[in-house]
Amino acid sequence: MRSYGETVFAEMTRLAVETESVNLGQGFPDTDGPRSLLEAAIGHILEGVNQYPPGPGRPELCAAVSRYRSREYGIDLDPDTEVYVTVGATAGIAAALLALVERGDEVVVFEPMYDSYAAMISLAGGVRRPVPLRPDPERGAFTFDPDELRAAVGPRTRMVIVNTPHNPTGTVFTADELEIIADLCREHDLIALTDEVYEFLTFDGRPHLPLASLPGMGERTLSVSSVGKIFAVTGWKLGWVTGPEPLVRAVRTVNQFLTFSANGALQLAVADALDTERAWIEAQRASLQDKRDRLAAGLADAGFGVHTCEGTYFLMADIGPLGHDDGVQLALALPREAGVAAVPAQVFYDHQEEGAHLLRFAFCKRDGVLDEAVRRLKAWHRS
Ligand code: PMP
Ligand code: GLN
Repeated sequence: MRSYGETVFAEMTRLAVETESVNLGQGFPDTDGPRSLLEAAIGHILEGVNQYPPGPGRPELCAAVSRYRSREYGIDLDPDTEVYVTVGATAGIAAALLALVERGDEVVVFEPMYDSYAAMISLAGGVRRPVPLRPDPERGAFTFDPDELRAAVGPRTRMVIVNTPHNPTGTVFTADELEIIADLCREHDLIALTDEVYEFLTFDGRPHLPLASLPGMGERTLSVSSVGKIFAVTGWKLGWVTGPEPLVRAVRTVNQFLTFSANGALQLAVADALDTERAWIEAQRASLQDKRDRLAAGLADAGFGVHTCEGTYFLMADIGPLGHDDGVQLALALPREAGVAAVPAQVFYDHQEEGAHLLRFAFCKRDGVLDEAVRRLKAWHRS
């Protein structure tokens, strides 16, 4: 792990605090989830739900997860054997990779890629096979070249990781894109690990389509979700992995020795909210869509080349139009020079040159915070 150092999110947040910058780096909302959820959590703690819950999760939450996956996506899961509660999506991803990737196995992953994939594939002894996502001139959003994807799959390929809605590009994979991935998985007998933490944050009426809902994919797909993103409580670190019993059992076997179990009082609160807070989830989606538009317009005014964002908390902005070409250097300078923190997209790439000219800005912030960031960036641009 010597090459991994501090995560870019921790580094940029520290720099933002030091310089009193507006922090559009790390992706966390600055308003909390539904009041009823917060109160329920307090209530369960006061009622005495404070000792170890069962390792696989509170039965109430496993049942609620099974219900919402069925309601939203038509995916039927046995709550006892096909749902497993984790300490955030991060622990689910870690346990899945440690459980299923053996030394020398290859893992196909779209880049830019969320930072924990690279680290956990390394810890498992696996080898990354990155497939670049690039802006599609017609659609505006980032997409992959099916030939490049096919070329990345070989005899040692064990798994493909699919993150949709995608951090950091904001792409929401279409049914056609997922079908291409599913075809390869079926043909080469691959396991798919899907990171669906932004499942409820798709914009402009786009649906989120879980890969597991495609024919022949339910039996080979592990899907990961995050309460932090569903209910805007990223500090709660709660999530779940769902999939066929043998794959979930493998995750469970490993996770017994990683975290064993996850906070029980919070699990009970979330179990209720999944059934009762659907309207809050819709309101959050609408609000974030407005915030996306607000920040996109502001960044364009400040001279950035803003890419299309179809979902998530994030906008990708090209620094080329501002006369810059080194995103890492600019991201390190911006807090001091402009009083705004963003994340250099380059750190999400193996082929770093692909992302050198891109910064990722988080728009999951109050409107006044976004406006202040834009005001500062415009002033910096003029100076
Ligand atoms: N995957 C992606 C794509 C993310 O953006 C994040 C950050 N929320 C995670 C996983 C980790 O989620 P959690 O905080 O629930 O561990
Ligand atoms: N998922 C968050 C992001 O992409 C960060 C999570 C973390 O700090 N590890 O900004």
